[in-house]
Amino acid sequence: MPNALPNAHLSELGQRLVAGSLSDAALQQATEATPDLAILPWVNVVKIGGQSIMDRGRSAVWPLVDEIVANLPRHKMILGTGAGTRARHVYSLAIDLGLPVGVLTVLGTAVAWQNAQMLQYLLARHGIAFLEPEGFASLPHYLMERGAVICQGMPPYKLWEANPALGRIPPQRTDTGCFLIAEVFGARKMIYVKDEDGLFTADPKKDRDARFIPRISVQELLRQDLNDLVVERAVLDLMLTARHVREIQFVNGLKPGQLTAALDGEPVGTIIYNAGMRRVDAA
Ligand code: ADP
Ligand code: MG
Repeated sequence: MPNALPNAHLSELGQRLVAGSLSDAALQQATEATPDLAILPWVNVVKIGGQSIMDRGRSAVWPLVDEIVANLPRHKMILGTGAGTRARHVYSLAIDLGLPVGVLTVLGTAVAWQNAQMLQYLLARHGIAFLEPEGFASLPHYLMERGAVICQGMPPYKLWEANPALGRIPPQRTDTGCFLIAEVFGARKMIYVKDEDGLFTADPKKDRDARFIPRISVQELLRQDLNDLVVERAVLDLMLTARHVREIQFVNGLKPGQLTAALDGEPVGTIIYNAGMRRVDAA
């Protein structure tokens, strides 16, 4: 006869988890009981745009590198890179060849990786390391020692990337990967460094009448359903279920001082915030 109480040492939640179905709604609700632990509450995740910054080369990248270095003593940063124009080129070839979304994601990841490599060699003299996701266990140590690390921005799904509702472009790219790093570590800030002052009512490169939006809730932004955005739509969807990241900020990396101001907590650029968020952090 089996032991009557094999898991008697477990908490009530533990007993329900081992015995019940993980799809049970009441059981899922019960897992809300404990507060969320912010693992690295002092770290700032900074995404350096692919097309918007890296592809502009020396004139955009060097001043930003100087600004990152100047902030190393004061702000800890996980620097994620975008992919940009070379990814768009390889996407067009792969789509033309009939390759699936998962393969496009593998290809895009390679381009974001190239940008991360270049940024890392520019920062190498300051002791900044490049980490793959497999090496993230060492991330706290590098941050404590040197103040920053570099990673490539794509989420590591690669072949496992889900199809978008429409079309063949991987829906979760480097804006998303960086957001998810900020969320899982409970980061202090998620800052996107691109080539515009922030979010506008339309792409300011195409519409001269586009109006600047300094601050907006993600709920209102989704309701407005703008034709084009400064950020991947997947990030907006993920914000709705985020447990740590309350807001994301967009600054112009072509304007010296904007990244520093955002790191210092100033409301520069655009802030998109979650108006419906409740959060109880663990002490
Ligand atoms: P990244 O280099 O980080 O991948 P993207 O090029 O994907 O950045 O996105 C930034 C670009 O989005 C901006 O350069 C801008 O031209 C464009 N964009 C499209 N729609 C908007 C909008 N509503 N507001 C601001 N920028 C927009
Ligand atoms: Mg992009």
